[in-house]
Amino acid sequence: RIIQKFSTSASLEEPIAPAVEVQHSKLLINGKFVDSASGKTFPTLDPRNGEVIAHVAEGDAEDIDRAVLAARKAFDEGPWPRMSAYERSRIILKFADLVEKHNDELAALETWDNGKPYEQAAKSEVPMFVRLFHYYAGWADKIHGLTVPADGPHQVQVLHEPIGVAGQIIPWNFPLLMFAWKVGPALACGNTIVLKTAEQTPLTALYVAKLFHEAGLPPGVLNIVSGFGPTAGAALASHMDVDKLAFTGSTETGKVVLELAAKSNLKPVTLELGGKSPFIICEDADIDKAVELAHFALFFNQGQCCCAASRTFVHERVYDEFVEKAKARAMKRVVGDPYKKGVEQGPQIDSEQFNKVLKYIKSGVESNATLECGGERFGSKGYFIQPTVFSNVQDNMLIAEDEIFGPVQTILKFNDINEVIQRANKTRYGLAAGVFTRNIDTANTVSRALKAGTVWVNCFDVFDAAIPFGGYKMSGIGREKGIYSLNNYLQVKAVVTPLKNAAWL
Ligand code: NAD
Repeated sequence: RIIQKFSTSASLEEPIAPAVEVQHSKLLINGKFVDSASGKTFPTLDPRNGEVIAHVAEGDAEDIDRAVLAARKAFDEGPWPRMSAYERSRIILKFADLVEKHNDELAALETWDNGKPYEQAAKSEVPMFVRLFHYYAGWADKIHGLTVPADGPHQVQVLHEPIGVAGQIIPWNFPLLMFAWKVGPALACGNTIVLKTAEQTPLTALYVAKLFHEAGLPPGVLNIVSGFGPTAGAALASHMDVDKLAFTGSTETGKVVLELAAKSNLKPVTLELGGKSPFIICEDADIDKAVELAHFALFFNQGQCCCAASRTFVHERVYDEFVEKAKARAMKRVVGDPYKKGVEQGPQIDSEQFNKVLKYIKSGVESNATLECGGERFGSKGYFIQPTVFSNVQDNMLIAEDEIFGPVQTILKFNDINEVIQRANKTRYGLAAGVFTRNIDTANTVSRALKAGTVWVNCFDVFDAAIPFGGYKMSGIGREKGIYSLNNYLQVKAVVTPLKNAAWL
């Protein structure tokens, strides 16, 4: 085993984030923060050291019932679906502006609960959250139906109605962004919501939900239930009075919620699930740039990205140079306290993920992949893992097949573009992919042949509110963001009326 010394944040500056405290730890139902019906709470932990940040109300089936009832009433009788779309848009805009004002505190809270570097939360995640809500506020008054021609004298109106009460279940890796991807389009369309946050990261959703009410959101429109998957999550997925379910998380749980939805009221379900995204580095690529991009594409967010480039395919002619440089880059990665300046990598989210990632590293070593660097825990407390690089990885190794969801880069060799396309597609997943080349024909060939919801050419992880995101195969069903997400939250109704004495048809 090669044990290397990694960069630490020891010599870096003091914390750069504002001090922040937990203001909200109860469930938000019908516009009010309330205890769970059982009175139970659960601790949310600081991944830097495993210490308790706060005890949060633990919602279960009874709280889901209360939240769904509030959302139902707000939809059936409340002002939200009935106010003008322009008014809705104004409230969403006001909310986004309020979040922008609280950018730094919100980023600090996210770092505390999740462990992601504060600089990334403050400069990327919160601004992208704001951008998402600005984007969907813009859609609110542009959502409309159409009229279609019919045989004979009939007027046919196709109405696009809000679907009703949306149940939304989100994961812990991007708590704020996942909130925005789900809540933005649902509210723009005039729906009401019950959102279940991930048990590891309940805090920021409660913080922003409070701001939404300050911006004028009527009570009952957005209800937040903190709690666990098999209790609160399952109750939401199987609720008879929830009209639509949107889920982001693992493929395994995606199957469970799809089944729960089918067995209850057959509510439509969108799923954003796992991935094992290939990143293909061609022989004509600028190697230094490719190394940096592939590094970012895998290690970003502690490797906890559903679209992480977790299979780096490198052409044999540039393979050795790439591996050497990828290793050197990983060795330079700054791991440490996510609140400090310049830190690129914080801890994994919790002990479960930490142990899972270390287990995959062990499996990589046992299957005779070459451990170029890393492979160990970093430091002595919390859930930090050294940036790890494996070379000589074969397609059938577990580390090349399974989603590791951690800072582990696996580098594979290829010699022909058709061969690598086949290998890249030989996975149960199909969320994202990347190709790095100077040849436009190669870029076009590869991007059209890959079975993935997003293909990045000479870039990676470029997200925008308008760009649809979602998976082929077992990476999911449906698309989020952009115009595509609106359809997830709309019901289509054809209204047919006879036309009497019409001047034209
Ligand atoms: P997970 O599936 O365990 O949990 C996700 C959410 O589902 C959590 O809120 C959890 O409480 C809930 N849940 C768990 N069991 C449930 C059940 N039986 N019924 C209802 N809800 C339940 O996933 P995770 O480990 O927390 O998150 C990581 C996974 O999410 C990775 O596989 C990753 O690829 C995926 N992910 C996908 C995307 C995407 O957009 N495709 C984005 C982020 C994360």
